[in-house]
Amino acid sequence: GRKFFVGGNWKCNGTTEEVKKIVSMLNDAQVPSGDVVDVVVSPPFVFLPLVQSSLRSDFHVAAQNCWVRKGGAFTGEVSAEMLVNLGIPWVIIGHSERRSLLNESSEFIGDKVAYALSQGLKVIACVGETLEQRESGSTLEVVSAQTKAIADKIPSWDNVVLAYEPVWAIGTGKVATPAQAQEVHAELRKWLHNNVSAEVAGSVRIIYGGSVNGANCKELAGQPDLDGFLVGGASLKPEFVDIIKSAM
Ligand code: 13P
Repeated sequence: GRKFFVGGNWKCNGTTEEVKKIVSMLNDAQVPSGDVVDVVVSPPFVFLPLVQSSLRSDFHVAAQNCWVRKGGAFTGEVSAEMLVNLGIPWVIIGHSERRSLLNESSEFIGDKVAYALSQGLKVIACVGETLEQRESGSTLEVVSAQTKAIADKIPSWDNVVLAYEPVWAIGTGKVATPAQAQEVHAELRKWLHNNVSAEVAGSVRIIYGGSVNGANCKELAGQPDLDGFLVGGASLKPEFVDIIKSAM
């Protein structure tokens, strides 16, 4: 079976004091064992060393981005090699905030995923449609194309978690219904089956993100093709622990 995966994307939030508080809250939490759930939190770059060194050893950290190729003269960027050098195991790539606010194209994101994997990082790769795309009936086309742009560039899905994050559900309080999420997750799995392999379709974890909270996580977690969550706002709060517990 696919092990449940709960990611906490802290986005561009936090002070040293707040980060220390969140880490102690997580360190004190009673949660299912690492055999049952992978827990990965993603602080801003500047807090990665602090979180990495103070977080319990059964939880892991992710960067929120990395440079598309080898480092060098790229002012303001952080390379995959640097993350590896710091012992950071995971990176989030292709978040919708970077696609829309920083104009990252699907092709660029595919290149980033491929480079990060080539350096030994594990990747949380994000896809998702806008409200306009959903309302015009192109959701499945959009998420398939975004997934294809990644699939075309990578030799293996072993170290990839696919995050379905409908843009209209991110930070809006408008969570996808369990049926809406399940429909897209099942389609993504079918896409992987038809275009990559049956084995990859059966093993890749597809997690949901967008207004997940302590109250709605349980019903979503019960959907057959939903293998976990990528949590934004609620990952900064004690209810993140309840979301981790929805793995059971
Ligand atoms: P919210 O949980 O705040 O809606 O954010 C979801 C998200 O973007 C996680 O990457």
